[in-house]
Amino acid sequence: MVTKTDVETYLNFVNGSWISASSSEVAASINPANQNEIVGYLQKSTKEDLDTVVEAAKAAQKAWGKLSGAERGSYLYKVADIMESRLEDIAETMTREMGKTLPEAKGETARGVAILRYYAGEGMRKVGDVIPSTDSSALMFTSRVPLGVVGVITPWNFPVAIPIWKMAPALIYGNTIVLKPAQEAAVTAAKVIACFEEAKLPNGVVNFITGSGSVIGQGLVDHPGINGITFTGSDTVGKQVGQGVLARGAKYQLEMGGKNPVIVAEDADLDLAVEATISGGLRSTGQKCTATSRVIVHSSVYDTFKEKLLNQVKEIKVGNGLEEGVWMGPSASESQLNTVLSYIEKGKEEGATLLLGGNRILDQECANGFFVEPTVFENVTTDMTIAQEEIFGPVLALMKVDSLDEALTVANDVNYGLSASIFTTNIQKMLTFINDMDAGLVRINAESAGVELQAPFGGMKQSSSHSREQGQAAIEFFTSIKTVFVKG
Ligand code: NAP
Repeated sequence: MVTKTDVETYLNFVNGSWISASSSEVAASINPANQNEIVGYLQKSTKEDLDTVVEAAKAAQKAWGKLSGAERGSYLYKVADIMESRLEDIAETMTREMGKTLPEAKGETARGVAILRYYAGEGMRKVGDVIPSTDSSALMFTSRVPLGVVGVITPWNFPVAIPIWKMAPALIYGNTIVLKPAQEAAVTAAKVIACFEEAKLPNGVVNFITGSGSVIGQGLVDHPGINGITFTGSDTVGKQVGQGVLARGAKYQLEMGGKNPVIVAEDADLDLAVEATISGGLRSTGQKCTATSRVIVHSSVYDTFKEKLLNQVKEIKVGNGLEEGVWMGPSASESQLNTVLSYIEKGKEEGATLLLGGNRILDQECANGFFVEPTVFENVTTDMTIAQEEIFGPVLALMKVDSLDEALTVANDVNYGLSASIFTTNIQKMLTFINDMDAGLVRINAESAGVELQAPFGGMKQSSSHSREQGQAAIEFFTSIKTVFVKG
């Protein structure tokens, strides 16, 4: 890595070395809590740079794929130990670069460490089945083979956990990788890659390239040397990625947006439901694909729920996520802030009632950052934009209903199907919700955001391309099945 003035420029990591891109152009990564602070510069790599990176990953794949799972796992254990020892620095960088509070950033980095250890262990687990042959003298079984070189395209909202939950399974099953992180969180990603460097994986196994989505992201999608793309990001870009990869017959995995509902039934524990709605909807400034955005409440408990919710949202301390006691940081960028503010305007224009918040925060401490007030609307109907589109900001839409049937109709009336929760103490209502809610993650008496790392993660409808990330489900994307028939 080299320095430019006193701010570091982060290079590409290719074939085991940090190297400069062929263009001297750089992009600044800015602290969203204080736009005067540049966290780092990232190179604007070119398609020629990408060719070099893919070539390195391709050259390394055969030997890496031939190692045993246990050998590959031993590298991942080393990366985990190194990342754990650098947890404070990585988390602080994350907070400075994309704004989430320091405790959340530490939690995410610790999660990255746990995911690495989980997949290191996967190297020792079974990867095939014996299938009875109709020929009694034959042996038939399946084994798993790596895809080859995997392109990993990630968003800015979980700059450690998302790259790790894609890279770790890709690597354990024998693939080599090229990571292209979101520009807004690429300094954090570079620090993650430095942990792989320190663990001395064979050259070319892990590669990292920065640049714009339209050049490097699209370049990976179109590159004949890339055998599979795992993408997390917006549904607009995701659909484009899927079409591009499909057009050249490679494999893709897409994790995209959400418009996640919470249903509060008449028999719910309201304190629990309020706490989970706030945590699920407003933590990370609402910038989670699983964030609660629609709160569908039974009319008989609506007023009580609303009062409790507003009382607690009013108490939320917004500010620089590095400061102690701050509960909610800024939007991750100016463009994200403007998107959130424009959705709030749209909500007002379309007739929703603004109960709380709705403005950019411009008081002294927040004036240099991209802060928005925690915002609550009511009288939101399913035809409104704020009930249909992902806002990715701290905005909750309250919707009143008279029955569970109506709640489910409202909850399912969107193009997304990632995560959904119900708060109820009634077992029948729980079962109806489990059966009738169209979402990949259904959660009972728990916030909509969150899944354990050993469980499959992904959505239905336009939230996901349906193959699952995390846990053992990840093997489906990162390998191909080979069916072996041995005639004795
Ligand atoms: P985004 O704009 O779609 O970008 C995601 C990644 O794609 C970035 O690395 C971006 O690069 C790259 N990209 C942009 N244009 C591309 C192209 N034409 N071809 C290939 N790659 C391209 O999303 P974001 O704003 O970073 O992240 C927020 C979104 O992610 C939200 O919609 C959220 O719901 C979703 N998300 C989903 C999940 C999930 O698991 N379902 C989890 C987290 C986030 P640049 O940064 O250089 O533009």
